[in-house]
Amino acid sequence: MRIGIVGGGMAGLMAAYRLGQAGHQVSVYEAQPSLGGQAGTFPIAGNRLEHFYHHIFHSDLAVLDLIDELGLSDRLVWHHNRSGYFYGGRIHDFVTPLDLIKFKPLPFLSRIILGVQTLWLQHFGDWRKLERITAKEWLLKRGTRPIYDVVWGALLRGKFGDLDERVNMAWLSTKIQVRRAHNGGEWHESLGYVMGSLQLLIDGLEQRIRADGGSIHTSAPVERVHVVEGRCTGLTYTENGTSFTDDLDAVIMTVGSHVALQIAPDMPNDYRRLLEVQRYQGAIVLVATMDRSLVDNYWLSLPEHDIPLVVALEHTNFIEPEHYQGKRILYLSNYVSPEHPQFHMSKEELLELYEPTLRRLNPAFRLDWINESWLFKDRFGQPVFDVNYSQRIPSHETGIKGLYLANTSQIYPEDRGVNFALRLGETITTIVQGGTARASLRW
Ligand SMILES: Cc1cc2nc3c(=O)[nH]c(=O)nc-3n(C[C@H](O)[C@H](O)[C@H](O)COP(=O)(O)OP(=O)(O)OC[C@H]3O[C@@H](n4cnc5c(N)ncnc54)[C@H](O)[C@@H]3O)c2cc1C
Repeated sequence: MRIGIVGGGMAGLMAAYRLGQAGHQVSVYEAQPSLGGQAGTFPIAGNRLEHFYHHIFHSDLAVLDLIDELGLSDRLVWHHNRSGYFYGGRIHDFVTPLDLIKFKPLPFLSRIILGVQTLWLQHFGDWRKLERITAKEWLLKRGTRPIYDVVWGALLRGKFGDLDERVNMAWLSTKIQVRRAHNGGEWHESLGYVMGSLQLLIDGLEQRIRADGGSIHTSAPVERVHVVEGRCTGLTYTENGTSFTDDLDAVIMTVGSHVALQIAPDMPNDYRRLLEVQRYQGAIVLVATMDRSLVDNYWLSLPEHDIPLVVALEHTNFIEPEHYQGKRILYLSNYVSPEHPQFHMSKEELLELYEPTLRRLNPAFRLDWINESWLFKDRFGQPVFDVNYSQRIPSHETGIKGLYLANTSQIYPEDRGVNFALRLGETITTIVQGGTARASLRW
């Protein structure tokens, strides 16, 4: 078959790799100048780095398998997670159960309840039941107000903004379970990273797709998917200002649901409706290089209401600065609705907005510590999963023969991640070749 794949992120590249291996003639069309999508990278301080911070969990079996398959195992390192929680004007360590017991912002009884709640969710949380209720309702019923206000509610607010009260409890419980799975019962969690960045995986996939005869077009946005008598016949894309139409037997769209609606307007109304109502939070990430370190932690959650971002993450407290010409690398990240004013701010405006927070983290901080900075945004950063989402999850088959959807809104209840993007690529490969696979994945 001649198969077109719209989007050269991890899901699209994995699908192209597997379909090429199976003997199909594959073409990938990527709107951006480089491949990788949300896992893409850029040059920084003599190395490469993800636009959006990325680390690997022990439960990311598909990522670990791919690293192995591409011969990159010697590039994978594991380091202890050094997460912190900035609350009440100070940074609290927030990794081990002992940290929880010592977490003073919560009354002692609440700390015990939080521990029990987390353990229960890790071992007994059944997402099918938990998706019937919002996370807020469940957490307030089974916990205390301070736990909700200080920990869970703050986490939900950070990730989902104004939509925090709509998110279902399956999202939270599955996050906890996936992360816990395959951790080998480690007391102090460790996180993985591919030295040289995820670009090594992206390059490895690209080489193999080309070696199997596949073609890859970058800076080539797909404008329109063609449908004749209910069957997909190809697509039109632009490259260097010129329009091209390719005849194809099948097209897989790995783009956000709203882009799929634009490029494939012929999908049946019932199916279109499912994509129209899908909500996403946009991701904003500012990356800065500095001569000195801001904090001692790697991941620092910023849960308080008056702080205009959700995470400050010092990458070089995870991977040593020697790999970046001695520079310190800081990510400042927020999730907001794509309509929110912050989503439209320039790098300079965001730095000005974030500066008081950086001073709260380290009173000596001054903007001139920053040597260089970059701003990255993605309007489909985080899908929002509300109550009974499984009943509204769009299927991979779109209702048009030969036209498929495989995007982050279908990764449920697990939620997006490189691991699940790779598995989505494998799943859609099976479906396109006539096999059956569930829309939802399990770890
Ligand atoms: C801030 C942030 C932090 C993250 N951290 C982690 C982490 O630590 N660990 C982890 O595992 N995962 C993390 N993720 C998630 C992970 O990166 C994604 O789940 C995964 O990369 C998604 O891959 P995808 O191929 O499904 O989608 P995408 O990467 O979104 O790929 C879709 C591609 O389609 C392209 N496209 C759009 N429109 C068109 C068009 N018209 N024509 C052609 N191409 C088009 C886009 O440019 C994009 O390249 C993070 C994500 C974000 C936003």
